[in-house]
Amino acid sequence: MKKLIFLGPPGAGKGTQAQILSSSYHIPHISTGDILRKAVKEQTPLGQKAQSYMDQGELVPDHLILDLIKERLSQPDTEKGWILDGFPRNVSQASFLQTLLKDLDSAADYVLNLEVPDEVLVARLLGRKRKDDNEDTIRRRLEIYHKDTVPVISFYSDRHMLKAINGNTSMEKVTASLKAIIDE
Ligand code: ADP
Repeated sequence: MKKLIFLGPPGAGKGTQAQILSSSYHIPHISTGDILRKAVKEQTPLGQKAQSYMDQGELVPDHLILDLIKERLSQPDTEKGWILDGFPRNVSQASFLQTLLKDLDSAADYVLNLEVPDEVLVARLLGRKRKDDNEDTIRRRLEIYHKDTVPVISFYSDRHMLKAINGNTSMEKVTASLKAIIDE
């Protein structure tokens, strides 16, 4: 059983690594960022509400995200495992997830924190050229990360669930470190 939560700042490589592990372990990759970008592209009611927050690098309000996660983690393809990427992003999302998993008779196996210094992140994100990857938005996303998401790291280390991984190295090495933890 592989139920994995990926933590790390924007640009840490969560999405890339989650995709690789999702295909090696045959478990769904659940990225709230991808779900939201698809909703924006299709201009669904969720997408219309989320768009301005995303464009400014702010977090989308919790009430828009929590139902979506509950829905997704209740689908039958999640029984053998999953990778959460981009969620939880603040402590209230993390508490919600603990309760939700308990209700589903489930639990995360590992919380994997990809560590990359801020100056490396800015350079990586500026090279990526996604719509919300301009310098002001990147700075704002990093600020929000430090304010709202860094406390999630303590939330999980307090519960002895956290594993730290150096994300400031080659993609292959990061994948190998992640697999070493998961397969141990
Ligand atoms: P990155 O990790 O590069 O910031 P993501 O694809 O994870 O990119 O997220 C892009 C944007 O989507 C965020 O800046 C935020 O506006 C929104 N978002 C994604 N996940 C969440 C979440 N769990 N809670 C609130 N907003 C979110």
